[in-house]
Amino acid sequence: MTRVLFPPTSLVDSLPPSIPIITRSKFEKLGIFRPIDLVLHLPLRYENETNIIKIAALKEGLSAQIEGEITHCEILFRPRRCLIAQVQDDSDILYLRYLNFYPSQQKQLAVGKKIRALGEARMGYFGMEMVHPKCRSATETKPLKTSLTPIYPTTAGLTQPVISKYIQTALTELPLPDTLPQALLSRLHLAPFAESVRHLHNPHPSQEERTHLAWQRLKFDELLAQQLSMRVHYQKRHRYHSPSLINLGEYKNQLLRTLPFQLTSAQQKTLQEISADMQQTYPMHRLLQGDVGSGKTIVAILAALQAIENGYQVALMSPTEILAEQHYLKLSEWLQPLGIQVQWLSGSLKKKEKNVAINNIAKGVTQIAIGTHALFQEQVAFHKLGLVIVDEQHKFGVQQRLTLWGKGIAPHQLIMSATPIPRTLAMSYYADLDISIIDELPPGRMSIITKLVNNTRRTEIFTRVREACAAGRQAYWVCPLIDESETVQLQTLLETYQQLTEAFPDLRVHFIHGKLESSEKAATMAEFKAGRIQLLVATTVIEVGVDVPNASMMVIEHAERMGLAQLHQLRGRVGRGAAQSVCILLFQHPLTEMARARLKIIYENTDGFEIAQQDLHLRGPGEMLGARQSGVPMLRFADIEQDAALLKVAQGVADEILRDHPLVAQAHLQRWMAKKQDFLHA
Ligand code: ADP
Ligand code: MG
Repeated sequence: MTRVLFPPTSLVDSLPPSIPIITRSKFEKLGIFRPIDLVLHLPLRYENETNIIKIAALKEGLSAQIEGEITHCEILFRPRRCLIAQVQDDSDILYLRYLNFYPSQQKQLAVGKKIRALGEARMGYFGMEMVHPKCRSATETKPLKTSLTPIYPTTAGLTQPVISKYIQTALTELPLPDTLPQALLSRLHLAPFAESVRHLHNPHPSQEERTHLAWQRLKFDELLAQQLSMRVHYQKRHRYHSPSLINLGEYKNQLLRTLPFQLTSAQQKTLQEISADMQQTYPMHRLLQGDVGSGKTIVAILAALQAIENGYQVALMSPTEILAEQHYLKLSEWLQPLGIQVQWLSGSLKKKEKNVAINNIAKGVTQIAIGTHALFQEQVAFHKLGLVIVDEQHKFGVQQRLTLWGKGIAPHQLIMSATPIPRTLAMSYYADLDISIIDELPPGRMSIITKLVNNTRRTEIFTRVREACAAGRQAYWVCPLIDESETVQLQTLLETYQQLTEAFPDLRVHFIHGKLESSEKAATMAEFKAGRIQLLVATTVIEVGVDVPNASMMVIEHAERMGLAQLHQLRGRVGRGAAQSVCILLFQHPLTEMARARLKIIYENTDGFEIAQQDLHLRGPGEMLGARQSGVPMLRFADIEQDAALLKVAQGVADEILRDHPLVAQAHLQRWMAKKQDFLHA
């Protein structure tokens, strides 16, 4: 009797102890913790060892298996050392080339041996060749494989045969019931689960259509699990209690009367969505999206007023001190005339001032507190917190959000994204949030002219800067600080500052970077805002949020090193006033393929949503998600762009299942998300 590797009791939790502990730890590295995870460990690609084709039928780029006799074998030393063998069948000859090889391989390829070689054909120096083909000796009796050979994602020290062995065992021993009801499968034309995974691990070469259907099923399952887990999270939120903050409109109208502009209709629409959410008795959790400069701040402030009117406090948290400080100034200007108590709190405050701030917040004197993450440190206790506004969310981890919930309070939350998020990304990884989009810019904005300039022509740019400043405007000169040690970085900045001061003896040039004292940073920004500094040499600390409408020119050094979102953010610092703005991207050769693609996109596009979409295409979701990545289930098989249609279906089905078949939802999550248990106990 054969021993069963996966007894039924071990179905859920862990891999059985009969798998050697070393192997188990390797599997864990691959995210395989349970027997079912083996089944869900799908091949990256396949090799076709099911047939043998004639050498004469090989074509450039074709992966295939051939069989023949070695007619020649030697080691060449030029252009570099390699082993080259000639193999012949009754149709033609083929060269096999190995750049690294063992004596055993040399033996295997001795003249007269019959071999099978599997690899990709290409046109080589002598004729058709395969580089590093998989080779084995061909004895007449060895049967060909009947299905394609899967190649699995793996980790060092775990070979394909070992992975394969355990997966095949799991496939035969585990019951693989379908998590989804038959009616649903029929309606959506989805293949059964068990059949699909069996097929994907052992596909027959001629059944491309079945392979396609099997992948569809697995991708759907994965997308559905992601949607379910996010929606469960979403529903869980509705069970917390929050104060219902009625829209009285008193303060709002007062503030709107003093503003020099009118809200755009997109701002009004998003404000209504937010306002309606805040009247609910469960916490709002809304993401406010909009391109750089679309005017998210005022919308957030108006939401804040709604909370304040109801006697609740508001916390506005920014990722950097510079930005927090700016918000503080703006809010003081707007809200103090209404008699609202605005409190500033950051980590860099002196102990005494900090104590005063903490005290004001705790006593309820403060109506709106503005600061960095210091706002949510241990000793800060709000008297009556009703709304939390998180600015430029991509800089914050999911962790900070959890801290809030952890304190047992459930204030309403408004999250503002710095960078537009492409629709498919929002639909998948942000499905736990409600989303409002400001999809228009305030009227009268001039477009920004973007220029790409080779760094060798850098001095020509000086003239442009001088002209802009002579005309009464201001400029930023941004030095990215990437990949080098901090000291080297600051040195680069200071050298540039030196160079520019010498180039512009008549201009007031100053610099700013993250390592300066807060008070110094604040003073510099105030000077720049007031127009007393004309050229500001800066690191990317000015990336987010900084708003100085008179600045109409920006030069960015080493633009080729920066990501698209960052470039778009930086560029958004200009074009905020009436003057025609220019953004000059200095780049240095040689450019990588990726850098070239990025520069092209930023040069050709001004719409942040479009840029984000192309960025997603270029880099995939992983990097765009940033801090969010650790908090949401990532996708292994489905691609939110290519499988956008399937994503849409999964979204609808998730809501339907949660409503009508909670047990199905549970079983499905169980299969796909064992390591995300918190989603299961909603
Ligand atoms: P972002 O969405 O990038 O955070 P901000 O909120 O900083 O944009 O707004 C950019 C600038 O546009 C600010 O100076 C703000 O006062 C101004 N602004 C906001 N809304 C309007 C509007 N409806 N009309 C004109 N200017 C506006
Ligand atoms: Mg902003």
